[in-house]
Amino acid sequence: MTLRLRLTLGYTFVLALVLSIFGTLVYLLLVNSMTAQLEHAMISVADDVIYSSRRDLQGIFLPPLDLIGNVAVQVWVRDSQQQLAQFDTNLSPPLDHPFDPQTLTVEMRKFSSVGMEDTRLRVLTVPLTLAADDHILGYMQLASSLEIVDQAQRSLLLVLLGGSLAAVLLAGISGWLIAGAALRPLDLMTHAAIRITRADDLSRRIELDAPTSSEVGRLILAFNETLERLENLFTGQRRLLADVSHELRTPLTAIRGNLDLMQRMGRLDDESIEAITAESERLTRMVSDLLLLARAETGHLPLESEPLEADKLLLEVFQQAQVLADGKVAVLLGAHDQGCVIGDRDRLKQVLLNLIANGIQHTPAGGELVLSIENIEGWMKIGVTDTGLGIPPEEQTRIFDRFYRVDQSRRRAGDGGAGLGLSIAYWIVRRHDGCLEVESSPGHGTTFNVWLRCADLVSEELEQAAEPESG
Ligand code: ADP
Repeated sequence: MTLRLRLTLGYTFVLALVLSIFGTLVYLLLVNSMTAQLEHAMISVADDVIYSSRRDLQGIFLPPLDLIGNVAVQVWVRDSQQQLAQFDTNLSPPLDHPFDPQTLTVEMRKFSSVGMEDTRLRVLTVPLTLAADDHILGYMQLASSLEIVDQAQRSLLLVLLGGSLAAVLLAGISGWLIAGAALRPLDLMTHAAIRITRADDLSRRIELDAPTSSEVGRLILAFNETLERLENLFTGQRRLLADVSHELRTPLTAIRGNLDLMQRMGRLDDESIEAITAESERLTRMVSDLLLLARAETGHLPLESEPLEADKLLLEVFQQAQVLADGKVAVLLGAHDQGCVIGDRDRLKQVLLNLIANGIQHTPAGGELVLSIENIEGWMKIGVTDTGLGIPPEEQTRIFDRFYRVDQSRRRAGDGGAGLGLSIAYWIVRRHDGCLEVESSPGHGTTFNVWLRCADLVSEELEQAAEPESG
């Protein structure tokens, strides 16, 4: 069942339910109040007759009944054989049987309804006694036609049924039209989505022809955003596949070339075996880097979360940097504030060593590499500054992309990495809720800053987050 049909049916059903409850109430109220009015009139006539009657030991003497106009009256009294016989009536000609024979035995006043020929009568039977609790001498029966009540009942039923039916029909039709108009943008969206799927073209977007504040407008915006994200993901995936194949091909070609060479030579060649070993190591490194990156990006990289003295960590890294630099560049220590961060010691060390290795690699011999740590407003800023080649501004935004290398020819020379180091560093820092930024001026040098939140700030934030729950 379509949403449009469901909405229309639901809406119409509720209206029909409300109308039927309301209609039934009105109907019952009106019928009851009309019957009550009629009964009230009959009671007052009966009361008038009883009030105007005279009683003594011989019996009851009723006033002239023919003066009563709009209510038919019969008086039935027991004769000498104790049979009820008609004593008086205001009907002419008189009716030879009681209006309601069933009630001529009651001991209290009683209303009943009877059918006579083709009319319905409301009958009030009043026992006649000389005094209260005395034996019943006879009965007075008053009858009033229910014709007016029945007619009003019929007319009201007709109006209520007709009106309700028309209202439900009208509501159904207008509900169908309104639901159609409201759901039309959704229909358009569905068609657009189908077209996008069929054309296998994620670059298409759904035209926004509804206000952005409306539900449909927001849905279109969200859908387009999803498309954009999907497009980026697919493009990224394709690029990754192309990059990985490309990167894997180079070492594999080298391995294959060296194997061919040895085959042709018919013997093992030390140089070729060395090259094969180096290329296989490069391959293994690349594959494990890719795996690490994939896990870091998707948040599946298990990270320790322990308090670390960041200044001490930097000192440890500083010593390793000196070994790595091996005298090629001077490794110096700059600002050295103290501060604690929460994170994974080994992974953070890996990030810093990566930045240091890059700095050493891209700085000509005799240059400098300065490591620093500063405590700035609850954040620890760890800087790795070199006096190397620098990175052109247009490349600075791309160096964190995987496989991206500023100088592609460097890779071919065989001394560069696969372009994964900075991506891994970026994601590890991101997973620590920190950020990695670069400042560089070509020809002068580069600074990489790792920003990590101080442990105090982290615990303060945790406390603040817990407060509303406890309060
Ligand atoms: P790689 O493994 O090739 O070093 P990275 O992801 O670590 O890959 O770095 C990406 C690119 O960024 C490098 O190829 C290099 O061109 C550039 N780069 C990184 N660090 C520096 C630096 N300190 N100075 C100049 N260029 C750098």
